[in-house]
Amino acid sequence: MAMTQVLLLGGTFDAYMLSAMLHEAGVAAIYSYAGATRTRRTPPLPVRVGGFGGVRGLVDYLIAHQITHVIDATHPFAAQMSANAIAACSRLGLPLLSMERPPWQAQPGDRWQHVPDMAAAAKTLNPLSRRVFLAIGRKQLAAFAGLADRHRFVLRVIDQEGDALPLPPSSYELIVARGPFRLADELALLGQYRIDCIVSKNAGGADTYAKIEAARQLGIPVVMVDRPVLEPRTQCQSPQQAMEWLQRPRR
Ligand code: NAP
Repeated sequence: MAMTQVLLLGGTFDAYMLSAMLHEAGVAAIYSYAGATRTRRTPPLPVRVGGFGGVRGLVDYLIAHQITHVIDATHPFAAQMSANAIAACSRLGLPLLSMERPPWQAQPGDRWQHVPDMAAAAKTLNPLSRRVFLAIGRKQLAAFAGLADRHRFVLRVIDQEGDALPLPPSSYELIVARGPFRLADELALLGQYRIDCIVSKNAGGADTYAKIEAARQLGIPVVMVDRPVLEPRTQCQSPQQAMEWLQRPRR
């Protein structure tokens, strides 16, 4: 694959897996992190950290580093980065692949209510749900700020450090933990905090699925926030498929 220079937009375990495959195959690639959280594994590729500065900054970066292919392996809910990648690649005529694990599908026994975004999730919360597990990270908590007098929240975040949380401190209990999470632990958590509703992003994958399984077992309703909708783009679901895409001949 002469002259190939891949920009891999990362921040997920699958992106890390792909970085290892690229390294093994001897494909020149740069791994990009947002730098919002501490990283668990160091990819075996040259790394850059931090935003590019919107679409314009990304376009400049792609030109300056002679990028030939962009693989967007960010989290399915990292919609801003993905939209920027679509815009920048279209402007430069660069091939772009989005790699996303498939979303979870409801199983018999699941009590899901689908909503399109976090604002809708907040509106949908049943006023009778007293103890709500907001398993959504810290970035979109503001949507629930107006409900703090009605519900008690349990929040789970990856890092202790970060911006102040936009909820009154008396309205929540904070758990700091990083997946993967096990079913037995999630069952214990839901029981310990007497959770009667969960708000979850439809992240897909195994690492954070145990809470969904635990909710099913305990009959707890889940407000399931569907993935943000982006412009159509070439997509795959696994690092193996991304490698195959790279090897496909192009004009
Ligand atoms: P976002 O809203 O789509 O991105 C916000 C801004 O952060 C982007 O506009 C970009 O800044 C910068 N950015 C995001 N990903 C980047 C990357 N890989 N390399 C360089 N800059 C990046 O994303 P987010 O929801 O804040 O997520 C941030 C990162 O955490 C992502 O890389 C994602 O894969 C990871 N992550 C997100 C979630 C989630 O639920 N959202 C969960 C797990 C992991 P500029 O506009 O300045 O370029």
